[in-house]
Amino acid sequence: MDASASRVNLLLKCGYWARKDILAPPNDSGPGATYGVAVHALTEQHGTEVSPNPETYMQLDDLELARAKVDAWSLFQWHSTHVGGDKHHEQKVAFNVNTRTARILTKPEPRDYSECSPDEFPGTADLVAVKPEAVCVLDYKTGHTPWEIYKPQLEFLGLCAAKIYNRSRVVCVVLKVSDGECYPHHWTMEEERLVEFEDQFVTAFNRVPGCEPTPGAHCTGLYCPMAGTCPATLGKLSDELGVPLDSIKTDASIENEEHAKRIYELKLLMGKSKKVLEDSLKRYVDNNGGITLPNGKVYTKQNGSYKECRPVGS
Ligand code: SF4
Repeated sequence: MDASASRVNLLLKCGYWARKDILAPPNDSGPGATYGVAVHALTEQHGTEVSPNPETYMQLDDLELARAKVDAWSLFQWHSTHVGGDKHHEQKVAFNVNTRTARILTKPEPRDYSECSPDEFPGTADLVAVKPEAVCVLDYKTGHTPWEIYKPQLEFLGLCAAKIYNRSRVVCVVLKVSDGECYPHHWTMEEERLVEFEDQFVTAFNRVPGCEPTPGAHCTGLYCPMAGTCPATLGKLSDELGVPLDSIKTDASIENEEHAKRIYELKLLMGKSKKVLEDSLKRYVDNNGGITLPNGKVYTKQNGSYKECRPVGS
């Protein structure tokens, strides 16, 4: 399983998805993720004078690319103005749960964590700024997810930076950007919080092998990669669809044609159930205005279509 800093929040709530013996479905990144990758690459271009690989943004249309360039310039200007110190862009790090030390990873390819040992958990900070009295970690965010969701990710990266640069104070910054405007959210981790977070993380990491599913609002709210295949969520589906759970293999692989037929039938049933559920949700929204979702967004009707929107006033 692809476990890294962006999933620390999920790891603190459930470790099942991170088990090495569980086969996860392939990662499918949507258009929001493509836009985010492009903004990150373009921002780094300003920071390092290195041209981003066009593959990172060629899926965007002209309008989206123009918007991404404006957002990237805004992010670059913000951290150039507000963040001092010795800056490191796109810094890949790993925390070792046995030695409780951290190190900088050396492979140049972005998000390539293959050099990590089984005792290490990796992550990438968009920007690390080292000052005499503190170290600052920043992460750029382009979506509408509430910034609080990212606190564990930033605190994990902050813990690594504190150890690598031998600092006892960390300033964490979630730097959200939208339509060329930056919205920074920052907080400080003092020594006590660093120790507390380190203990929480090590406990969560160590309980992963053999961990059973721990379902909750985080399954969808924190975008669990196993949400479509884990026994807990399939159990809910089996109740809803009247399909015995035992007849559904609970991993993403198909072993033979009989299994393939069962999965195909399940897909058809799920499609019908999905339509019924969507219609009932739309009726609920028509009568009640909207539904506040676990990810902090609101499912409501806007310009004639039903969709997830950011809450009013955020
Ligand atoms: S879907 Fe929920 S219960 Fe299942 S692995 Fe993910 S977080 Fe855990």
